[in-house]
Amino acid sequence: MPREKKTTAQGRARAASGPERARRARALLARLQKDYPDAACSLTHASPLQLLVATILSAQCTDERVNRITPDLFQKYPRPEDYAASPPGALEQDIRSTGFFNNKAKSLRGLGKALVERHGGEVPRTMEELLQLPGVARKTANVVLGTAFGVASGITVDTHVFRLARRLGLSAAGSPEQVERDLMEVIPRADWIFFGHALIQHGRRVCQARQPRCADCALARLCPSAQAAPEEA
Ligand code: SF4
Repeated sequence: MPREKKTTAQGRARAASGPERARRARALLARLQKDYPDAACSLTHASPLQLLVATILSAQCTDERVNRITPDLFQKYPRPEDYAASPPGALEQDIRSTGFFNNKAKSLRGLGKALVERHGGEVPRTMEELLQLPGVARKTANVVLGTAFGVASGITVDTHVFRLARRLGLSAAGSPEQVERDLMEVIPRADWIFFGHALIQHGRRVCQARQPRCADCALARLCPSAQAAPEEA
C-alpha cells in the first residue's frame, strides 16, 4: 500500500469532527452518484468463480492486464478442480504476465482445492467463509460479495479507495482495514458497493496517485486536499 507524505490537508482531515466527516461523506456520495451513476467492477467475469480468480490476479496488477489473460484462462480452467489439479508450472505460465505469479498460482491451487473440499465447488457468500480461502483478504471478499452477489458486507478498499478516503478527509487511518471501518461509519450501507466502485473510478480518472487533477475535479469543493494534493513518497 503506497504511503503518502503528510500534508496540511491531511492534518485537517485528521482533525475533522465526526459530524463534519459524516456531512462531507453525504455530499461526496451525492456528487459521485451524479458523476458515476454506472460505476461497476472493471474485471471481466461471467461467474462468481471467475470474479474471485480475476480479483486475486489483480493484486499488484492493473485490471486491464488481468482482462487480457482471463478469457483464455477461464476457458482452460472452468472449474475449481481445474485450478486444484493444474500441474506444477503450467498455471504459473498462464498467469505470468500479472506478476507475482508463483504466489498467485499457489493461492489459486489452494483456492480450487478449498472450494471443492469445503463448499461443493461453489464460491461461498459470506465474509467469514471467504476469508478462510487461500489468497482471499477483505478487499477480495468485498469485491466478490458486492459484485457477484450484491451483498454489502463492507466497502472495498483497494489502493485507490485508500488514497482517496484519506485525501477527501474521510479517514486518516494508516491501514486499509481501519479506512474501511471509517468509511462504513459515514456511508449508508445501501451505498457501500457503489461507493467503492465510484471511488476507484475517480481515482483512476482524476485523483491519480502521483498527479491528482484537482483543477478538473468535481469533488474539489468538498475536498480538504484540493490544490494541496500530496505527492507519493
Ligand atoms: S480535489 Fe484533488 S485531491 Fe481532492 S479528490 Fe479531487 S483530485 Fe483528488
